[in-house]
Amino acid sequence: MKKNLIFALGLSLITGFTACSSEIEDGTTDIDSWEMPYEEVVAKYTYTHPCAMFNEADFTRVKTMLDNGSAPQAVKDEFNLLKSSQFTNVTYTPSPTEKIVRGDATGTGTTENSNNAMRDAAAAYQLSLLWKLTGDTKYADTSIKILNAWAKVCKEVTSNDSNHMLAAGAQGYTFANAGEIMSTYSGWAANDLTAFKKWMKDVFAPKNLDFMKRHQGTCSDHYWSNWDLVNMCSYFAIGILNEDDEMVNFVVNYFYNGVGNGYIGKLIQGTFSDPLGSGEEIAQNQESGRDQGHAMMSIAVTANLCQMAYTLLQCNPTVTQLDFFAAKDNAIMKMGEYTALFNLRNGSDQLNAAGSWLATKEQMPFNRYEYCVDCSCADKNHGAIHTAIADDNGRGNLRPGWEILFNHYAKVKKLGSGYKYAKMAADKMRPEGGVDGGSRYGTNSGAFDQLGWGTLMLYRE
Ligand SMILES: [Zn+2]
Repeated sequence: MKKNLIFALGLSLITGFTACSSEIEDGTTDIDSWEMPYEEVVAKYTYTHPCAMFNEADFTRVKTMLDNGSAPQAVKDEFNLLKSSQFTNVTYTPSPTEKIVRGDATGTGTTENSNNAMRDAAAAYQLSLLWKLTGDTKYADTSIKILNAWAKVCKEVTSNDSNHMLAAGAQGYTFANAGEIMSTYSGWAANDLTAFKKWMKDVFAPKNLDFMKRHQGTCSDHYWSNWDLVNMCSYFAIGILNEDDEMVNFVVNYFYNGVGNGYIGKLIQGTFSDPLGSGEEIAQNQESGRDQGHAMMSIAVTANLCQMAYTLLQCNPTVTQLDFFAAKDNAIMKMGEYTALFNLRNGSDQLNAAGSWLATKEQMPFNRYEYCVDCSCADKNHGAIHTAIADDNGRGNLRPGWEILFNHYAKVKKLGSGYKYAKMAADKMRPEGGVDGGSRYGTNSGAFDQLGWGTLMLYRE
């Protein structure tokens, strides 16, 4: 823990944060103390592609152990799932649309069709992983076939309601990460790569930025954290792909000091001691009182965002603010712990069990959360007050993403403690898969919110 304190102090010198938030008497965190004077990050970056979700060293590490057979069995298992996925078939044919429509299609001249983009972005991403891990250019060629087709045909992300902003975010960062990995493929014609990068910047990035700045004209707290988070992921990944420092800095500054619920000071709504007595700290998520499906999406998408920032840190070691994982004394780890704890059951098989829950609703500490109460939203009738964690039907339905948190804190940072429940969630999910290929989270839109494949790319024994 000493190392973290030193890091936190170092960060505070750079950013003007104090190292830790103060504790008030009942053990909860004084949230107001997080809103410190913030010194804007205006870094210039080195981009050693790929440098979004993973870098070349990550691919080399995994490919080497797959090639020489030393990979843990779970990694081999997930590699096989990836190879057998319907989204990595080399005959995969993309279905690009001129408009990506998610939500009410009124006025768009077409029907809701965002499934096409979900499937094709996931396929391009999964094929890019498989190319890197096998060296087989058949996968690379299929991936760029998908990316080129979309860049050529698609002009807009839209609908008659705000739901298309979810597509701009979730499919934005999936496409961008596929393109980021494929940008290292010598077989991708330079003009096609340029066109793809421009497509991402022209069609997705303005939506992402507008959402983060304006939130569809609502108050800045109106959209739950996931809306911000997918748009932050997208804008960040497109910034990396385009080597656009301003875009990258925007997201870094938003994470530490943004107006919406993707800002870490709003994403986390209080820190508590583990009620089960582990000695760990756990942190309430902005969506914890809403429902567990969305709270777990918030964790998974945050994990993807942190992973991208940490990869970019590897080629920009002086920009220490990129260690989102470490921010606010490992607040993201604590947020994962709170959510994992409430969504885990006793017993060995989380995914099929009907066993008793690890913690009861009554045991979970919770800070009262006022959602759009006395806010500046024009509609005054939609506010809600949460006074306890939500115990809903989505409880226990874990999403891929726990490998990111577990492996980062336990194996990369080697903290030694503080990630007990992320470990349990990752252990129970492993191999956690992605969409299709043994997906642990179905094949509906929720399966496409996070990139998955964390066991393959990150698991270390
Ligand atoms: Zn509001």
